[in-house]
Amino acid sequence: MQYTSTRGGDTATFSEAVIRGLAGDGGLFVPETLPDISLHLKRWQDLPYTELASSFLSLFATDIPGNELNRCVELAYSAFPDSASPAPLVKLSGRLHVMELFHGPTLAFKDFALQLLGQFYGRYIRSTGHSLNILGATSGDTGSAAIHGMLKHPGVHSFILYPEGRIAELQERQIACTGSPLVHPFAVNGSFDDVQSIVKQIFGDAAFSSAHSLTAVNSINIARILAQCVYYLHAALKLGASEDDPLEFIVPTGNFGNVLAGWMLSRMGVRGIRFCVTTNVNAVVSDFFKTGEYCPGTVVPSHAPSMDIQQASNFERWLWWHFDGNSARVRELMTALRRDGKFVLNEIPEKTGIIRTTSCDDAGIETWIRRTWLEKGYMADPHTACAFAAVREDVRSVILATAHPAKFPETIASVTGQFPQHPSLELLKERTVTKQILPADVEAVKTAIMGVKN
Ligand SMILES: *Cc1c(COP(=O)(O)O)cnc(C)c1O
Repeated sequence: MQYTSTRGGDTATFSEAVIRGLAGDGGLFVPETLPDISLHLKRWQDLPYTELASSFLSLFATDIPGNELNRCVELAYSAFPDSASPAPLVKLSGRLHVMELFHGPTLAFKDFALQLLGQFYGRYIRSTGHSLNILGATSGDTGSAAIHGMLKHPGVHSFILYPEGRIAELQERQIACTGSPLVHPFAVNGSFDDVQSIVKQIFGDAAFSSAHSLTAVNSINIARILAQCVYYLHAALKLGASEDDPLEFIVPTGNFGNVLAGWMLSRMGVRGIRFCVTTNVNAVVSDFFKTGEYCPGTVVPSHAPSMDIQQASNFERWLWWHFDGNSARVRELMTALRRDGKFVLNEIPEKTGIIRTTSCDDAGIETWIRRTWLEKGYMADPHTACAFAAVREDVRSVILATAHPAKFPETIASVTGQFPQHPSLELLKERTVTKQILPADVEAVKTAIMGVKN
C-alpha cells in the first residue's frame, strides 16, 4: 500500500509516512486506495480485539512483516488493563450503547493510537539504529498519551510543551509526574497558541530538528487514524450494522481525527454505519456540515478542553476523499483558507447523508452530565456529555466515551455532587511535579532541549 499526500506532491510507504508524520508539501498522508473489506467481515466477526486490529492493519502496513505487526499490536494493547477488551460496549438501553475508550494508561481515547504509534517508533529505532525524540505541544490529553506511548522505548526522549497554569491539574500530573529521565515537561509561560507556534518554529529549523532527531507528535499521523478505525469496526461487528438496521456513532469531535477513522470504514464496504459529529461551543466542523462554510475563528475555552479547537487538522483528509482524491481541489481550498481565513462549498450539506452534526455549549454539557447521571446512572465526562446531548431516541446509537470522568472531577462534582476518582490518578496526586518553567521564547526552549543529554 502506497501513501500519497492530500495535496498531491509527495508519496511514502506506510513506515515512512509514520515516521515523517506530515507530507513534504504540507499535506497529510492518506492510503492511495482504500481496500474493500466487506469480504473479510464474516471471518473477522468473532476475532478478539487484537487479532481484529492486526488483520485490519495488515492491509495498510504492508511493509511491516506480519509477525512484527502482530507483536506491535499485542504490546500496544497489553498496556490496557483488560487487553482482551480494550473498548468495552456498555448497554444503556435497547437502542443505546456507550463504547468506553478511556481504559488505557492515560484514561482518554488517544491511548489507542499512541500506544501503537510508540510501538512503531520503537520498531523503527531497533531496525535502523537511528534515534528519535518526540516534540509536541499539548493542551492536555495528547501530550500525556504520547509520553505514556513512548515510555517503554529506551532512548526515546519526550519533550512536551504546554501552557503553564492552563491545563487541568490532573492532566499536568500525567505529564509531569512520570519520574522518568526520558520525559521533559516544559511548562511555557504563554497560551496554547504560543506553545504551538514555538513547536512549529523549531520544526521550521530543519538543521536543529534533524540534529536532535526530533519528530512531531500530533494528531495528523496516519497510524493514529488507522488504529482508531479498529474500535468502530469492532463495535459494528459486535452489534451488527446493516442498511435495514443502521448504527449511528456519536463522536465528540475536535481535530476530526476520531470521527474520520469511523467514516473511512463506510468507504471500505462496511454497510449501515452513520456518524454524528458533536462539538462543544467551538463548532467550526459542525457548522460546516450545516452550511458548507468552513471558517475557523478564535478558540473559546470550554468544559471540554480537548475539543477546544478551531483548526480541525484532519478535516483535510475528509475533503480529499470527498473529492475522490482530487488533490488540486484540496490545494485550492487550503489556499483559500490561508488567504481568506475560510472556504465555502455549496454542494456539501445534501451530499453527506451519513454525517449528522450537533454542538453543545457549557450549559448543555452541565445539563447532560446531570441528566445522564440521574436518568441513566451513567457518569459522562464533559466531552462525552456532548454526545449524550445528541442522542435521538429513534436511532440505534453508539456513543464514543472519549475520556474517563475522573479526569474532570470539578465539573462533574459541581453538577452531580459526586466526585469521580480513578486509582491511577489518586496515585499521581502523591507524586512530585517535575517540570521546567520556560518563557514563551523559541531560543529558550531550544537551549532547554540542548541541555538534555541524548
Ligand atoms: C482529543 C479528544 C477529543 C477530540 O478528538 P479529535 O480526534 O480531535 O476529534 C475528544 N475528547 C477527548 C477526551 C479528547 O482527548
